Amino acid sequence: MLKRVFLLGYPVAHSVSPAMQNAAFRALGLPWQYELLATPPAKLREVVARLRRADCAGANVTIPHKQAVFNLVDQVSETARKIGAVNTIINDHGRLIGDNTDVFGVLQTSAQAQIDPQAAQIVIMGAGGGARAVAFALAQAGAANICILNRTPSRAAELIDTIRTHFPHLSVAANCVDAIDHADIIVNATPIGMSPHVGESPMPRGKNFPRGVIAFDLVYRPLQTQFLRDAGIAGAQTIDGLGMLVHQGAASFQMWTKQNAPIEIMFAAALHALNGDGHATLSNCR
Ligand code: NAP
Repeated sequence: MLKRVFLLGYPVAHSVSPAMQNAAFRALGLPWQYELLATPPAKLREVVARLRRADCAGANVTIPHKQAVFNLVDQVSETARKIGAVNTIINDHGRLIGDNTDVFGVLQTSAQAQIDPQAAQIVIMGAGGGARAVAFALAQAGAANICILNRTPSRAAELIDTIRTHFPHLSVAANCVDAIDHADIIVNATPIGMSPHVGESPMPRGKNFPRGVIAFDLVYRPLQTQFLRDAGIAGAQTIDGLGMLVHQGAASFQMWTKQNAPIEIMFAAALHALNGDGHATLSNCR
């Protein structure tokens, strides 16, 4: 039987996950298909309910549903529960299990870029599902100082409460814009700069990249965002969103199929689908 996996999000047209996941299914000879499913918030409950069908293996969940979907599945993994965000749903014989592979994606990416978060001042811009994964991954890797900057202050405060619950010794603050001046790692976990708004940057007006900073953008379309371009000009080490995308996708693939993901094939397919948008850092994925 043809098995189907969906990407639930709004918008989803920018995604390279179908190219990446379908290449992996083909490489392993699986009769599976990964499809985009543009899902406006009002339709989310109905769409998630349909994932219980026998021909559906599960789904990925992206902007803006990672937190909303949390209450629509039957069970969540410990990681997803701690973070409060689900990016992967597994259909286990009609029972929907929510998990989160973004944390793994961040951990892999930061390890490959040799990021040591332990003594670093970290600034995360955004407080949604992606920001939650970054905060948890870096806290798990030993971060001691994190500042969350977000458009909606109450959402930053919620994320801080969640982090404090699980990492009580971590120093965490909200909307301390001046932390940028002495940051060691700045992460863009907002969609600002994502195609088609390629000229936009999430950096607050009047703020510069400090010397020696590492700039990590979760956005992967385009690979070379305005945020990373500005950071590069300022001499920063830059990390694009492709490595994280491939690693979280490979972990999701393994959850659905119970088989090892062909990670190099997934990386090449994602890069091919992005072709023309910029130059990937292959080292992100090795
Ligand atoms: P999300 O849960 O919807 O959160 C989006 C965050 O960005 C929220 O904090 C939101 O602030 C903020 N934001 C959105 N538009 C903004 C604007 N115009 N100005 C200022 N802040 C804005 O989304 P997400 O799932 O975290 O995704 C965020 C980005 O990361 C997307 O571009 C997504 O594609 C990317 N991402 C990439 C990967 C990867 O593997 N590379 C993984 C996860 C996410 P409010 O709270 O004020 O709404």
